[in-house]
Amino acid sequence: MTATATRVLVLNSGSSSVKYQLLDMKPDSAGGSAAGTRLAVGLVERIGEETSRLAHTPLATGGDKRETEGPIADHEAALKAVAAELSADGLGLDSPQLAAIGHRVVHGGLKFTAPTVIDDAVLKEIERLVPVAPLHNPANITGIRTAQALRPDLPQVAVFDTAFHTTMPEYAARYAIDVATADAHRIRRYGFHGTSHAYVSRKTAELLGKDPSEVNVIVLHLGNGASASAVAGGRCVDTSMGLTPLEGLVMGTRSGDIDPAVTFHLKRVAGMSEDDVDVLLNKKSGLVGLCGDNDMREIRRRIDEGDERARLAFDIYIHRLKKYIGAYTAVLGRVDAVAFTAGVGENAAPVRAAAVAGLEEMGLAVDADLNAVRSGEPRLISPEYARVAVAVVPTDEELEIAQQTYALVNA
Ligand code: AMP
Repeated sequence: MTATATRVLVLNSGSSSVKYQLLDMKPDSAGGSAAGTRLAVGLVERIGEETSRLAHTPLATGGDKRETEGPIADHEAALKAVAAELSADGLGLDSPQLAAIGHRVVHGGLKFTAPTVIDDAVLKEIERLVPVAPLHNPANITGIRTAQALRPDLPQVAVFDTAFHTTMPEYAARYAIDVATADAHRIRRYGFHGTSHAYVSRKTAELLGKDPSEVNVIVLHLGNGASASAVAGGRCVDTSMGLTPLEGLVMGTRSGDIDPAVTFHLKRVAGMSEDDVDVLLNKKSGLVGLCGDNDMREIRRRIDEGDERARLAFDIYIHRLKKYIGAYTAVLGRVDAVAFTAGVGENAAPVRAAAVAGLEEMGLAVDADLNAVRSGEPRLISPEYARVAVAVVPTDEELEIAQQTYALVNA
């Protein structure tokens, strides 16, 4: 890497999509830490179909979003198309200014507790984890291989969704099942969305004017996927997702916590196959299973029109959320802040208000006016008298991946 290499390309490769951002990590003019200026952002969707779509926004040049539709056969073709778009803006991947490529990798097991420069051994270990992340790790591996082929000379860094949660104590991470069986099959709670929980808990401490080591935070990452975490002094001590992202909160399409006997029942009594149950719980449950919609905006609109199914779905969602706030208050002992983030957490004021309603005895309250403010900035929404700060902290997983990647290749 040369001294002028300050750009990081962040790749988030899904099974049929690639999200990307090119960031410049030059330290700010005050000589502070790398702020991360976005130069370009984009998305390739429906890879492998006739109607693949690439949307690219060249922020560096202030140009308009460019959208192209047409077949993109595979991830290699997708990344080549992205490279061509970046080149057209003078931001090509062949630039000596590119310092590294940072990859989001969903499952890092217990081995990867920090961002890691990818070599053959690392790639093998990510492959070894495919059985515990069959939907995600294969796509992440394809993204890494494709990027390696494009720039074999460049450091490629894996930033793991699970890494932030590896500090969970054993009693929080283990399921109460036979230890030998659990160990033989690496069955334990790993947690996900770790990059977001790390970023948001740190930003929340910043908002309170404190060092992360001084504060205890409950982070509520409420997007289409949703998870809660208890963060004590900057370290995760519990999180709601488990072996897979299915456990925990009610999500857009996932059930979250459920009696595992429901799955036996569905197989024995309803005659469903393993795959049927998998699809039911991951894709057809949660808000969409309860009321047919997984978009909180639509659910709120239906509630305003008096729709009872939407109301019940919302109430079930909030009830689960409250249970986790209560549980993590007990886990942490002292809570300094509850931080809402991701699509629902950042935008849905009624969810935030309902989640803390009635929790005044626990020191939690929301100021209606502050809660109604729409902003992209981290902000407090609790009244001054409240013992626990309630915050809205927009997450930025790409920036966190870029920062971790840049810090590692400059270490
Ligand atoms: P994410 O997975 O973080 O991108 O979040 C996506 C979800 O955020 C959507 O499915 C919606 O339920 C929710 N969402 C996005 N914008 C809004 C909004 N303005 N109001 C309420 N919910 C929103």
